[in-house]
Amino acid sequence: MLIKYDVGCISGGSYGFKSVIIVSLPLISMSRVALFPGSFDPITLGHVDIIQRALPLFDEVRIAVGTNSTKKYLFSLEQRVNWIEQTFSHEAKISVVTYGGLTVDFAKEQNASFLLRGLRNPADFEFEKAIAQANREMVPNLETVFLLTNARYAYISSSIVRDVYKHNGDFSHFVPDTVRP
Ligand code: ADP
Repeated sequence: MLIKYDVGCISGGSYGFKSVIIVSLPLISMSRVALFPGSFDPITLGHVDIIQRALPLFDEVRIAVGTNSTKKYLFSLEQRVNWIEQTFSHEAKISVVTYGGLTVDFAKEQNASFLLRGLRNPADFEFEKAIAQANREMVPNLETVFLLTNARYAYISSSIVRDVYKHNGDFSHFVPDTVRP
């Protein structure tokens, strides 16, 4: 949204001069940036669905791939990022960033006003609720937006994909075509 203030005009009356006052306030751009934080180890069709459905709601969706030193990932950060970039290479509103540390700190750094998360089941809800409430306590103006999973993808998780992959199963049903380790 752009808010623009411009010209005011004062006429000089009988003296016949005219001065124009230009009130130049900065153009205020309030871009709605949502950060979608996660491990994406690897990205699944469930993630893709959440991201695509979030697109009409925001000006930008930044997929924030976490690097947590205490967490063990199956796929490297570079690999996880590459797969996401390839998946959304045609979509200008989507970008991929990486981060460590607190998600709220990174959201502030990125000027994001929204955190995007997906909900699959009551366990997700309880877990996400606590995190969202803690985040709101720390950064009140950062709003967490939840999208309910598409029923088609509700059973999909990155951990199922990893398990199938480790046992040489066909994981292609659960991930976008770009994910081919
Ligand atoms: P994290 O380690 O933060 O849980 P994930 O990559 O597992 O990272 O998940 C990131 C987000 O995507 C979470 O909000 C999670 O609930 C959501 N998500 C994961 N799988 C699905 C799915 N199948 N449908 C909808 N949302 C999902």
